[in-house]
Amino acid sequence: MSDILVTENIQGASMIRLMEDLDVEFDAYLWQNRDLLKQKLQDTQALIVRNQTQVNQELIDAAPQLKIIARAGVGLDNVDTDYAQAKGIIVCFTPDANSLSVAELTIGLMMALLRRIPEARQDTLTGGWNRIKFTGTELYGKTFGLIGMGRIGSMTATRAHAFGMKIIAADPYLAADAPVLKELNGRLVSLDELLAESDVISCHSPLTPDTRKMLTYSHFSQMKPDAFFINTSRGEVVDERGLTQALLEHKLAGAALDVRETEPPEQSPLNQMENVILTPHIAAFTVEAQERVVDSVCEDVRLVLSGKPAINVFKP
Ligand code: NAD
Repeated sequence: MSDILVTENIQGASMIRLMEDLDVEFDAYLWQNRDLLKQKLQDTQALIVRNQTQVNQELIDAAPQLKIIARAGVGLDNVDTDYAQAKGIIVCFTPDANSLSVAELTIGLMMALLRRIPEARQDTLTGGWNRIKFTGTELYGKTFGLIGMGRIGSMTATRAHAFGMKIIAADPYLAADAPVLKELNGRLVSLDELLAESDVISCHSPLTPDTRKMLTYSHFSQMKPDAFFINTSRGEVVDERGLTQALLEHKLAGAALDVRETEPPEQSPLNQMENVILTPHIAAFTVEAQERVVDSVCEDVRLVLSGKPAINVFKP
């Protein structure tokens, strides 16, 4: 039994220092064994997780000494934050640590889609030299529609704007005169307008009861047939069957998904589509972002266990 329990693969220099200085048990696969995890939580004061450990009521009840749940990442959909906070447990996350990496991957996926880079690579590797076949489209002058204009949406929009794209955003919690829209000469629109107008749509909303399966076949059917869809937010925001159907019917030109409805995903017709790019939830996985994430959770755990206030506390 240890004071600090790490249940997923969260590594880095500050984790090594934490293990040297304090009583830490590190088991990257513990999230898979709920019974053992519950046993180990009996005396735990700090729980450090990524997104695989489902920190629900049952788990929180198994941890009577728990003072802090530190989530190495942004999405808190795997943590029952209401219940934890009602029990006086501090919930920390790393809101700014990986936004830039996610924004950069989103731009990378957009370029790969519009210039058909993965397809061209595959064709070249198998002996092809088909320049005309791989004629792509430029970003310049195209309309970039963001569903969700928070930290990552704004950073992605800023980068797309630098390429000369026009920015529109659908976000029920954003004011039409928000500074980020003014800076980027952007417009707040309804979801329907965004679907109809955009050349590239990128989703950056959180996963909440309201956004679960928010984007369905009927939404993808409203897109321009030559437009692309990118999701680096949460897989469950998209009805993947609906997206697959829309792609099969050529309602849109292609898609890039870093996140999936089930992770790791089951076999899917998406795997066979040349106009679809699939990555294994790697948007936050850069050397720099991971270092920032691990620094942030380790720092907050040290603070709370020494009776000081944490820095990145989640406030509902
Ligand atoms: P954020 O809270 O800063 O921004 C989310 C924005 O979405 C807010 O502006 C909010 O008003 C808006 N929003 C809420 N409901 C909406 C709705 N129904 N329609 C449109 N917009 C809505 O969050 P963030 O840090 O920018 O993160 C965005 C997403 O990226 C989250 O889902 C997060 O889990 C995900 N994420 C993914 C990775 C990855 O590895 N792929 C890494 C980090 C974050």
